[in-house]
Amino acid sequence: MNTSNQHLARYVTTLGQQLLQQFGERVHKVSIDAGFTCPNRDGTLGVGGCSFCNNDSFVPEHGVNPAVAAQVDTGLAAVLKVTRARKVLAYFQAYTNTYAETEVLRRLYEEALQQPAVVGISVGTRPDCVPDRVLDLLQEIQEKGYRVWLELGLQSAFDRTLEVINRGHGWSSYEDAVQRAHQRGLDVCAHLIVGLPGEGPDHSLTSLKRVLDLGVEGLKIHPLHVVKNTRLAFEWKNRLYMPWTQQDYIDCAIDMIRRTPPEVVFHRVTGTASRDILLAPDWCEHKWPVINGITSTMARKGWRQGDLAKEADWPVVAKDVQVETVRWVV
Ligand code: SF4
Repeated sequence: MNTSNQHLARYVTTLGQQLLQQFGERVHKVSIDAGFTCPNRDGTLGVGGCSFCNNDSFVPEHGVNPAVAAQVDTGLAAVLKVTRARKVLAYFQAYTNTYAETEVLRRLYEEALQQPAVVGISVGTRPDCVPDRVLDLLQEIQEKGYRVWLELGLQSAFDRTLEVINRGHGWSSYEDAVQRAHQRGLDVCAHLIVGLPGEGPDHSLTSLKRVLDLGVEGLKIHPLHVVKNTRLAFEWKNRLYMPWTQQDYIDCAIDMIRRTPPEVVFHRVTGTASRDILLAPDWCEHKWPVINGITSTMARKGWRQGDLAKEADWPVVAKDVQVETVRWVV
């Protein structure tokens, strides 16, 4: 484990720490691109995708992806070299990893699970793309003794924001998916983006509160990146969207961490975009300054995850709050 991550784990419940406790050895996530697409890009819900999603990274010829088993091997070799971890969680990350027939999903997930180093799977998807048959499959895998996480991209609990960023789903889809996952004993990791158009720290905290009130086992938070060839890039270039500063993000992330009960696991407290597609903000190219900023501030102030979890003064942002209007040239 990276030293900075170890430091972070003194103040934040990290996935790495939880996996270490569960398996008695280091376990790392290995990203898998199993060749899925997304209903918000293939025309089922829309074609443009979410406003922040880079369409250039979409590869229609999914046959070019290496096999899942080969991706696990490559990921394990990289993890072994850097961290000496010998076990991995196969993270089906790219696009919508439940968007296929059940037997296709079963084959892909099982291909990963058959690799000796794999202790489980983490499946990233949209909240409106988890029918019961998918949840039943994940439950079946979990009942075989594998670690299973269902990662749901919510991004914001505000329907108006979800509309502005063209998510194609609302809060109610997330609520429904979480309730059905929990009925099956599945752990849910909610993804939230900080700094969405028209949102401030109070929106992020309100989204967090709604997610926590509904019940969640994991969280992934990261700043909004403006990347090339996206609708968000158009907004940014036309000064309709202003990215947050690194310090504003660190302050908001810390506030979110402190209000999150310690039993909720943070899969990630920030995120990066590669230099070749990142337009703004510049600081999103590197994660360690952000992680170090969060860690050093929490250390200096004596703060911990959850030390404000019982705090009564959550900001109240009305559910139908209006975000800034985004005008489109058509
Ligand atoms: S749901 Fe995910 S893959 Fe689909 S358009 Fe949005 S960000 Fe991109």
